[in-house]
Amino acid sequence: MAEFVESTTVLNVPEFGYAPVPLAPTVAPARQVSEISVLLNSLDEAAAESGHSATAKRTSSHESKLVRARLGMASGLYAALRAKYPQAAAHSLRVALGCSSWAAVMELAEETRDLLEVAALLHDVGKIGVPDKVLLKPGRLTPEEAGLMGRAMPTTVDILTGSGAPRELLEIVKYSRAWYCGEGRNQDRQGDELPLPARMLAIVDAFDSMTTDQLYRPARSRERALAELFEFAGRQFDPALVQKFQALFSQDQNLLTEKLARRWLHRLPQEGSAVPWTIKQHEHAESPAVMPTSDLPAASLFEKKLIDNMHDGVLFVDSQCKITLWNTGAERLTGVSGAAACGRILLPNLLDMCNSREQRITNEECPIAHAVASGVQWLGRVSVMGRQGRRISVDLHAIPVRTVEGAIHGATVLLHDVSSETSLEEKCQALHAQVAKDPMTQVANRAEFDRMLINFVAAHQESNLPCSLIMCDIDHFKSINDTHGHQAGDAAIITFASLLKTMCRSGDLVARYGGEEFAVLCADCSNAAAARKAESIRKALSEIKQQCLGNAAITASFGVTELQAGDTPETMLRRADRALLQAKDQGRNQVVQLGEGMMEEKVKRSWWPFPTFRSSALVEANLVTMVPIDVAIQKLRGFIADQDAKIIKTNENELQLAITSSGNGGSRRLTDRPVTFVIQLKLSQRRIEKTNTHGLAAGAYAETCVEVTIRPRRDRDRRREATVEKARRLLGSLRSYLMAREDDGKAPASARPLAAAE
Ligand code: GH3
Ligand code: MG
Ligand code: MG
Repeated sequence: MAEFVESTTVLNVPEFGYAPVPLAPTVAPARQVSEISVLLNSLDEAAAESGHSATAKRTSSHESKLVRARLGMASGLYAALRAKYPQAAAHSLRVALGCSSWAAVMELAEETRDLLEVAALLHDVGKIGVPDKVLLKPGRLTPEEAGLMGRAMPTTVDILTGSGAPRELLEIVKYSRAWYCGEGRNQDRQGDELPLPARMLAIVDAFDSMTTDQLYRPARSRERALAELFEFAGRQFDPALVQKFQALFSQDQNLLTEKLARRWLHRLPQEGSAVPWTIKQHEHAESPAVMPTSDLPAASLFEKKLIDNMHDGVLFVDSQCKITLWNTGAERLTGVSGAAACGRILLPNLLDMCNSREQRITNEECPIAHAVASGVQWLGRVSVMGRQGRRISVDLHAIPVRTVEGAIHGATVLLHDVSSETSLEEKCQALHAQVAKDPMTQVANRAEFDRMLINFVAAHQESNLPCSLIMCDIDHFKSINDTHGHQAGDAAIITFASLLKTMCRSGDLVARYGGEEFAVLCADCSNAAAARKAESIRKALSEIKQQCLGNAAITASFGVTELQAGDTPETMLRRADRALLQAKDQGRNQVVQLGEGMMEEKVKRSWWPFPTFRSSALVEANLVTMVPIDVAIQKLRGFIADQDAKIIKTNENELQLAITSSGNGGSRRLTDRPVTFVIQLKLSQRRIEKTNTHGLAAGAYAETCVEVTIRPRRDRDRRREATVEKARRLLGSLRSYLMAREDDGKAPASARPLAAAE
């Protein structure tokens, strides 16, 4: 029972206790949709059998048809609910269908059944008076919001009363919220004194709410929902009726549906409305904000009542933009009373209207006048001066109104308050900025850097544009702290961060990596350009007199690298880190640059002779690098460190490594699980004679040949597409570190995939 009670407290009820308010889920759950469509399809079939056209297949047109059949003139009320909260309307329709089936089984009198159906269809109409932010709130309501939600039922009663609904109908709606035992608030009737249709509506309404996904909780099973009804039988619900409701489930549902379809559709053309509505001509005078117009058609009374109860601002203007209607919603929004507004010309200066860039909209630019003059709708976001002298963002929709002959009559204007949505957007953005920023320096924090590094690498690999990473760390910071104190140290860190910020472009990302260490991601920037940038930062820092340190300057060391072939975010980061360590080792206050760069990638593409690897995941290559073997081994060390490779075996000039490539590998395409590769390397030095080509002096040079074999450690990984791609990237990476090229000195291809069968 706990959950049922919980929904009561979350929703906070109008006058009569429990209100199973069908808060609209943003996406209609599949179950509901399919149920409705099954139902509507059988309605279709039934209609076809009896000679009614059943061409329209769309649920909404069915819905309209059904609702029109039941409500006649009052269908405008339902249409308004559907326009504002489609899910609340869908709920009402399901409840009406449920009530109707049940009434048939219970063999209620036709008139009673009519009343029950209409009451069910309209029981939630008052929701149009509840602000979106309350109705669509996924969490627990504040007392103030609960108060606003509580207005829905009185508003329903008010709208129905104002629309001339018969007393019996009003009683069904009103008492559907009463508790059977009389425990509800301000209850003047209880038990069997409550109208039977009201007691039935209470049960069907609660059942549908429970078995439907709500913003604040998921749908319960039918069995659970029934159990809940039984739990509350005797208190909230009529116990005898709960029993009967359960028995309804054992009936042939198809038969019920068919009967229902006949009833609803057959009567459409003949009758129009199932319930006699009495139009009281004095009704419209009740709402001072709505200016009465002459020769008011009877049906428009419904709309007037409705319009005045809407939370949104609704205005009518004539062809001269003179205001003829100004509802309570518009009064609430603008603070301008209907009496003051009606009769005046609606111009932007009346509402102090501004565009989305906060610029005043002149009277000549008036979107409403434009809609009236051109006959074209206008929809846009503007701000108007609100009731409390604060600007309010509104979506303004000006819809021209034409006569049947096509002459422009004026326009209807809708003002929908979006300030809560706008501020929610802003709050989300602010929240993201908050979690992404380092509070002390106001640059990105480590977590944001890690996220952005992955994006940067993937984006630059895809576009094949260079991108570089600078890692920097203040020198001897410990002693700065020791000498000048922690606070002075903090101030120095802040100065360094703002220097980095000012010296970087807007597309770059400056992040505090930790302590006095910073990372700068430089978009579309080569190794050389990044190194120049680092150098100018280094120089500038060394020249800044730090006030907090008694005008002494501080220095920092920099490691720079560019994204290169075969890189992952990790290898790039490790290489930059190695470069920084090297700068520290070499005496600090300097820039060290490591690695090749993406420009080599273009060479690599032509160097790589195989357009596709299909099934093979095993790769062989003969690489050659124009350095002696000991230098080649030095370069291999970088590869081993950055790839975090494990050395399995070394044997003279042979080396066996194991490298586990992480799941994402920095590429969006490679999102499967990690694979461990075994890389076999055989190095040999050879002597070559160069003539005066390639810009080199003629003479003998030492070259190192590297025979490479890459295979996955587990055989079953070899056939996977992603494994091939990863092996290829590893080879590309190795080639970058060795600054190697394909060995074209030998006859066989330098790199070839072996067949999977081998
Ligand atoms: P090196 O030149 O090798 O980088 O020497 P170092 O002293 O800068 O490096 P080390 O990593 O030994 O010390 C860094 C010090 O920075 C230690 C730590 O107390 C201090 N530190 C880290 N974060 C902050 C901070 O937010 N504020 C202050 N004031 N000090 C910090
Ligand atoms: Mg340091
Ligand atoms: Mg440090």
